[in-house]
Amino acid sequence: MNGGQIGNVDLVKQLNSAAVYRLIDQQGPISRIQVADVSQLAPASVTKITRQLLERGLIKEVAQQASTGGRRAISLTTEVAPFHSIAVRLGRDYIQLSLYDLGGKELASAEHEFLYAQQPQLIEGLLGHIKAFIAQHSAQIDQLIAIGVVLPGLVNPETGVVEYMPHIDIDTLDLGDILREHFHVESFVGNDVRGMALAEHYFGASQDCQDSILVSVHRGTGAGIIVNGQVFLGSNRNVGEIGHIQIDALGDKCQCGNFGCLETIATNPAIIKRVTNLLAQGYESSLAGIEPLNVETICQHANQGDELAKQALVQVGNQLGKAIAITVNLFNPQKIVIAGQITAAPEIIFPAILRNVHNQSLKTFHRDLPIVASAVDKQPTKSAFAMIKRAMLNGVLLQKLLED
Ligand SMILES: [Zn+2]
Repeated sequence: MNGGQIGNVDLVKQLNSAAVYRLIDQQGPISRIQVADVSQLAPASVTKITRQLLERGLIKEVAQQASTGGRRAISLTTEVAPFHSIAVRLGRDYIQLSLYDLGGKELASAEHEFLYAQQPQLIEGLLGHIKAFIAQHSAQIDQLIAIGVVLPGLVNPETGVVEYMPHIDIDTLDLGDILREHFHVESFVGNDVRGMALAEHYFGASQDCQDSILVSVHRGTGAGIIVNGQVFLGSNRNVGEIGHIQIDALGDKCQCGNFGCLETIATNPAIIKRVTNLLAQGYESSLAGIEPLNVETICQHANQGDELAKQALVQVGNQLGKAIAITVNLFNPQKIVIAGQITAAPEIIFPAILRNVHNQSLKTFHRDLPIVASAVDKQPTKSAFAMIKRAMLNGVLLQKLLED
């Protein structure tokens, strides 16, 4: 949240509206009196803000039987059905799009192969895919309130400027503004792994805690750190590069130029490469002859007891565990969430991770630390929707809707 300018009347207005909306969203149905109590706003302010929210259709009144009997109390709850958003996950060679209502219900989705080698192709293709998706689902869309895009790379989430992508050259890609101008709707752009950590916090495995770390193992390895219910970004907005923690000084060369980074072992391509090499050397395995190999198949065979597949995954779990132990010592999280196809072999991966976390982090930090599989992994666009949800809860998008 861009803040710190207390005294700015508009910001105070935005924060107060957000506080009221947040309470109704998270604790509704809730009465105006309870909202005033919990938010510590003056009852007159609460009345004014709820009137605005009601007029905009963002909340509604519901009659609730008072627990003491007697007359029915009027409570407030959010209205989510008429407000729609498009959430996009941009991969290195694919694009996934979903239509969500404001309650986070996915109403439609699509996935396409999407190859782009240069920035202009990326912009043109992205706009084209979103436009076609909106056209295709126009009958389902009532009010389009926002577009969210997550992508691999470094993004300034406040300005929506993409500063770096791992696979193509980027020259200050002002994607937030481009989307806003093109579709005339609020737009949010962010890093995919950080977005996923936020999605776990709002909708998934880490809903029950304020401090959590998501570790994602896909094409690359990244982490999203949630501290006090917010994505931890730092002032340069670039943290969580767990994939470049060195775990083997004599390891393979990494794309970053260093040697033995976690990414040289704990990514899908690295796992496949290692298994392929072992098979080529003649190791016995039920995987022999299977082509193309993927991590899901390796997990299946490991689950069925194939020793080579098992050992390959144990090695990944061990190295992941070492890197996670470092983050545990640094952040003392309440939960670790693991995303990626490797979680399809839970009885092999999780014990290996746990063993290493236990060996290499402080006992008081890891004693009650659950390490669990992602709950939103199968719905990757949820990470883009999470940014839209955040913008409602912190008031950035909410205020725009109220001013419409
Ligand atoms: Zn590296």
